[in-house]
Amino acid sequence: MGRMHVVARKLTALHPVSLHVVFAVLLAVAAVFGRHTHLESSSLALVWPAAGISFLWGLWASRTRQDLALALAATLPIVASVNLATGLSPTLALTVAFGSMVQTGVAARLFRRLVPSLTVQSVGDYLRLGTVALVACSVGALFIVVGSALEGATEPVAAFIPWLVRHSVSLTALGSLGIVLAAGIRARAEGEAHSPVAGARRAEYAVLVLVSVVLYVATFGSATALPVAYATIPVHMWAGLRLRAGWAMLHGLVSGAFLVFFTLAGLGPFQELGPGTAAYVAQSFMFIAFSLSAILALSMDERRRLIARLYRATDEAKAAADLRDLVIDRMNDGVLVAGPDHRLIFQNEASERWLGPDTARPGEVWRRDYEVTTPAGEPLAPADNPLTLALEGTVTERMDLDLTHRTGAVTHLSVDAVPLPGERGAVVVMRNVTGERVYQRDLGRFASVVAHDLLTPLTVFDGWLELLEDPDLSPAEQRASIERLQQASLRMRTLIRNLLAYSLAKEERLTASRIDVGRVAEGIIDLRTALPGTQLPDVRFTVDASDPVYADERLFLQLMENLVGNAMKYGRTDGTGEVTVATTVEASTGRTLVHVRDNGIGVPAGDLERVFEEFHRSENGLVQASGTGLGLAICRRIAEAHGGSISVRNLAEGGAEFTIGLPGMPDQLPEGIPLVGAEHVPRVSAP
Ligand code: ATP
Ligand code: MG
Repeated sequence: MGRMHVVARKLTALHPVSLHVVFAVLLAVAAVFGRHTHLESSSLALVWPAAGISFLWGLWASRTRQDLALALAATLPIVASVNLATGLSPTLALTVAFGSMVQTGVAARLFRRLVPSLTVQSVGDYLRLGTVALVACSVGALFIVVGSALEGATEPVAAFIPWLVRHSVSLTALGSLGIVLAAGIRARAEGEAHSPVAGARRAEYAVLVLVSVVLYVATFGSATALPVAYATIPVHMWAGLRLRAGWAMLHGLVSGAFLVFFTLAGLGPFQELGPGTAAYVAQSFMFIAFSLSAILALSMDERRRLIARLYRATDEAKAAADLRDLVIDRMNDGVLVAGPDHRLIFQNEASERWLGPDTARPGEVWRRDYEVTTPAGEPLAPADNPLTLALEGTVTERMDLDLTHRTGAVTHLSVDAVPLPGERGAVVVMRNVTGERVYQRDLGRFASVVAHDLLTPLTVFDGWLELLEDPDLSPAEQRASIERLQQASLRMRTLIRNLLAYSLAKEERLTASRIDVGRVAEGIIDLRTALPGTQLPDVRFTVDASDPVYADERLFLQLMENLVGNAMKYGRTDGTGEVTVATTVEASTGRTLVHVRDNGIGVPAGDLERVFEEFHRSENGLVQASGTGLGLAICRRIAEAHGGSISVRNLAEGGAEFTIGLPGMPDQLPEGIPLVGAEHVPRVSAP
């Protein structure tokens, strides 16, 4: 904020009374000046700036009734006394002062009505101001006609046109400049930034001023009456095209002052015209030059404003679009938009992740890199494709689809598709429901297990209990019943414990520590072999595990117990069973691989993957031992929770080898599993 800002602030803060005084003084000065601009041969003023000043005063004052009344009431004595003092007859002085007052009132009211913003910002505003001037000054001119008639002039009507020209030119030129100036002062006062004028521009303005002076002096200051007034028109065009409206108007007005000065001095192209004619030719020339640059400058300003608004709108639209893209990209749902020709217009990150980035790039025709099937596993017919349907105008809601990628990974999706209005394509929104689907499947399996493995034994319970109530039962039969009951109860307990372990293996928060695999294995073996009363077959154990793992100790223990337990359960029962626990380091990843080997029945080739599924048990396993089919599912969950993996292979010499890959170094732990303690040897407890 420079000095201009301070000055502008002071001006806008002026008390209304002070402004009235300022306007009154300006009006008096303008009237005196006007009265001195008549040609030698005529008593008529050449210019009448008082009309413009009076209009500005009235316009400013028209904000309240009182102010307007005050301004109009003050006009009358000021104009009348100046006219009287400069030699006009009392009748005429009074009638023209009255005319000025009425004219100002009409002009202020009319302009307020036509341009409620009270600005001259566009060519339209300027033309409206011109119209207001013509109407108001025609009304004012009637008074001079009346005055002349009262004075006894031979042709009183002859005074009409000179007044109209003089006053309307002044009102339009001074009025527009004043309004633009006031708007500028207000903008500065409100602290609106004003872009500084560049050096080159300054030089251009200086040249413009110089050329204007030279041309005006040459054409209007010449002693011979050469008709070359038009030679000044180019500088007005120059000013109009290059200056802001206010400056262009000021340029026009100052040029007009030159013209008036020289013409009054009897110089220039108009010197040989008759006195009356010279006044009007000079006036109209000046007015046309002024209007030319004003209209050019106003339309350039308008253009600049429109361009600025366009840039602003473009920026805003771009910012809004960026925000929208950001939001859509961050959404958990997949969104893709395709054109009517099946070409991809847009897809967000989630969609790209599920459908694969190479499936389609914007502008490409859709091609599929995956198998789309219904949840029942049937291939999706092209006619049922939600995208195709939407492009044909049909809305799809929550269609369940499975994507099987070339890698074998399956993604379950719930798909919505809607056509875009105007056949511009279609939007497809996909929700990944893989998690929900797995959860539902687990829940279903859980329900069937509960029904089958928990409810069925309870029915058996009831039967045996009923039998026990029989007083005639022999002690041997009683013992047999009780044993059956105990077995059923044990089975149920194991199942419930496994179910709990299975669900906890997924939900629990893990903490990792460095675990000595060998010591864990030995602990499990000790406990199993030392367990009194077990009818476990004789098994030879070998432990060769020197590589540590970083894992949650409780879950790792559970994992090893399940695997060692399986190796014994599905191992040889004739006393030649061998179970080995060993570790190696996977060369490519540096992870620790824990191997649990046996020489038992092995896993049927078709079941190598399926044994890790919940409740899946192989035919040969079913025959050999009882179980719930949850042990390996728990193991897989535990391995995956550590970012690891589990697999099984059959050994050539017979038996199976289960291999689990787990972090061998702390930095291989997945994010979110904190490392605690130095080294832990988990306490092994009875299975
Ligand atoms: P439990 O829930 O009581 O552990 P389970 O042992 O039957 O029951 P899992 O440990 O999940 O269940 O094993 C699933 C199936 O995998 C077994 O039923 C068996 O058929 C097969 N299996 C597991 N370990 C071995 C192994 N070491 N040798 C051969 N088959 C095995
Ligand atoms: Mg098992």
